[in-house]
Amino acid sequence: MTFELSREHEEFRRVVREFAESQIAPHASRWDRDHHFPTDVVQQMGKLGLMGLTAPEEYGGAGADGDFTSLCVAIEEIGRVDQSMGITLEAAVGLGINPILSYGDQAQKERWLPDLVSGQALAGFGLTEPGAGSDAGATLTRAELVDGAWVINGAKQFITNSGSDLTSCVTVTARTGVTTDRTGAERAEISAFVVPTDTPGFTAEPAYDKLGWHASDTHPLTLADVHVPEDSMLGERGRGYAQFLATLDDGRIAIGALAVGCIRACLDACLQYAGERQTFGVPIGRKQGVAFQIADLEVMLRASRLLVYSAAATKDAMRESGGPTARELKQTAAVAKLYATESAVSATRIATQVFGGYGFMEEYPVARLYRDAKVLEIGEGTSEVQRMLIARGLGLPVE
Ligand SMILES: Cc1cc2nc3c(=O)[nH]c(=O)nc-3n(C[C@H](O)[C@H](O)[C@H](O)COP(=O)(O)OP(=O)(O)OC[C@H]3O[C@@H](n4cnc5c(N)ncnc54)[C@H](O)[C@@H]3O)c2cc1C
Repeated sequence: MTFELSREHEEFRRVVREFAESQIAPHASRWDRDHHFPTDVVQQMGKLGLMGLTAPEEYGGAGADGDFTSLCVAIEEIGRVDQSMGITLEAAVGLGINPILSYGDQAQKERWLPDLVSGQALAGFGLTEPGAGSDAGATLTRAELVDGAWVINGAKQFITNSGSDLTSCVTVTARTGVTTDRTGAERAEISAFVVPTDTPGFTAEPAYDKLGWHASDTHPLTLADVHVPEDSMLGERGRGYAQFLATLDDGRIAIGALAVGCIRACLDACLQYAGERQTFGVPIGRKQGVAFQIADLEVMLRASRLLVYSAAATKDAMRESGGPTARELKQTAAVAKLYATESAVSATRIATQVFGGYGFMEEYPVARLYRDAKVLEIGEGTSEVQRMLIARGLGLPVE
């Protein structure tokens, strides 16, 4: 079995790389230092077509010319020069556009997608709450139907792209009642809604002070008596939680691509530095202790790339009849996310070590990569949650 990206994908990679190196790389360190979210660059990514890679042409997307694999290529290339802009793109498409594309009705798609796909607007994905992260079904946010409007009250936490100047709406999950599961036990009925950010009562609270991803936009959200029309429900009543979990399956592959970009950045930086930096009269790359660590980076890169791009190919193959099932995708996505993100964290530790004291200084990008990588093991499902999903996929009765 061979697994290679197509010539078209590799050509597309070159286009994105050129953009990333000319428009993002020279500024990434400053944006990180200043915690600056570069709105104009996000719009440029839209103009380049990066937000529309999985969207139909009728909303301005790439249609048949785009696919999930292309999105992963774009995220890898942007993430190689700037993880903050990589996650901005990943969340814009995987968490912002995809739920509306997958579950929105015609009117919702027509209202929101054209601006999101062109990069003139961003949407947030409001699942996590102060008391409900890995256990996102424990949501306390509530929506009540009062006189033909849904009234939403609650709070969301750590929401990417939710408070920028470009953010037009946030999709949120909320309890809409009580239902019974297959065993007859009562549980919360959770539905999803599209909330325009200019709705009274919706507040994006001040941005977090994060360890990394400084140039990415992340806020806590407050929803206080937020009134949205009855037709703001996204998808079927009571299916909100399931829809959001399915959205995360795709998102995990894309986070894997961001991790691949991080590992590549570590490898590129180390290769260059190991040829330049001299100790004991020779380049450090002559020392096995250093060279073997860099060899490990190459192994991490190749293995992570294979897992991520085969997961992306699985996602793309689902468009064909008789293709892989959602269950297969869940397992493949969890394996790819787990392996690639844990490898990325290890890769940044190795890169920092190869750079010695300079690796600890912000003047080199490996320090930023070291700070940025950790969250890859947390966002869109922690490593423990991925292991739980994989174990369940193997038929183990894990809680
Ligand atoms: C920068 C950033 C951006 C984010 N963006 C978004 C976003 O756009 N939208 C959104 O909805 N969320 C977002 N998140 C939230 C993210 O998805 C959650 O932080 C993550 O799912 C973990 O939830 P938690 O933080 O509540 O941790 P907890 O669920 O409290 O977990 C704490 C620890 O316990 C472990 N744990 C929990 N349950 C189990 C279990 N059953 N078995 C074993 N271990 C377990 C976890 O793995 C973790 O190590 C973002 C987070 C960050 C940091």
